[in-house]
Amino acid sequence: MAILVLGGAGYIGSHTVYELIGAGRDVVVADNLVTGFRKAVHPKARFYELDIRDRKALDALFERENIEGVIHFAASSQVGESMKDPLKYYDNNLWGTNCLLESMVAHNVKKIVFSSTAATYGLPEKTPILETDRTSPINPYGETKLAMEKMMRWTDLACGLKYVALRYFNACGAHPDGVIGEAHDPETHLIPIILQVPNGQREFIGIFGGDYNTKDGTCVRDYIHVTDLAQAHILALDYLLAGGESNTFNLGNGVGFTNKEVVETARRVTGHPIPEKLLDRRPGDPDILVASSEKAKSVLGWSPKYADLETIISTAWNWHRTHPHGYAD
Ligand code: UDP
Repeated sequence: MAILVLGGAGYIGSHTVYELIGAGRDVVVADNLVTGFRKAVHPKARFYELDIRDRKALDALFERENIEGVIHFAASSQVGESMKDPLKYYDNNLWGTNCLLESMVAHNVKKIVFSSTAATYGLPEKTPILETDRTSPINPYGETKLAMEKMMRWTDLACGLKYVALRYFNACGAHPDGVIGEAHDPETHLIPIILQVPNGQREFIGIFGGDYNTKDGTCVRDYIHVTDLAQAHILALDYLLAGGESNTFNLGNGVGFTNKEVVETARRVTGHPIPEKLLDRRPGDPDILVASSEKAKSVLGWSPKYADLETIISTAWNWHRTHPHGYAD
């Protein structure tokens, strides 16, 4: 039987497909290629170009392939964009998931692992964040991801669909072999933007805000390597296939780095001075976001391999240095 990866041409999806195929699994990828790249899809995966809001195309896929479980990454994921165009997020993330769950239930496929986010917590009350902490999103991206979690919960109660929601903190890094990596247009994330400086594509890194309540005044984030995230999806799917109950897990390293520390680490990795400029705050950034991932470790047996920020940035640099224009290279 096969695993269906929706959004398997995107950043975290493509890395998960590589790990699944590396583990000898049969993989089907579906992606509408709006933000994903055909070149990011592992050559051994069977590929379908489709949008999850296209119920007919989804039904045809489930009829043709023998799917035992779904890993769902097919969603819009930019906080800033979601503030400007909230309805796009309700359409793609919520309506898309609605179509997907209907099709899954109709075809009796009842195991799903999907991308949720630290943005479901909003402004956290304490550090590190536990899965049981208050969820109160402050942007439509986090709001629609939380609503996806709730949609799954009610579908479980009504139809017995079992789900795992994985709340990622800051996904980063690239495949250690350098074959695939991060490529967003426009790029908004800190590490790839920093690396545009040593790549000659940007003069300096602008740091958003220097007056946060942290040790050097810049925001603190928990950076987790994309391959470690990929492994967590496989463990979560196997947990469901073994009869596990629906569940929610944080995924982070449990260690926070300030934005200035990330820039300093990138200077060490690249050997480039990477000039920095302090800019105004970006709206909607909490001071500190650090996960407790103890639950994923104890229930799923997850153990991140790339806890060290220098190693994480080295894998990202290896990709960006050799693919300065992402998959266009
Ligand atoms: N950031 C920054 N300059 C940039 C991009 C991001 O200072 O050009 C900061 C951002 O304000 C946040 C941190 O880097 O404090 C991580 O942001 P990112 O967008 O990578 O991830 P997020 O935490 O929003 O998921």
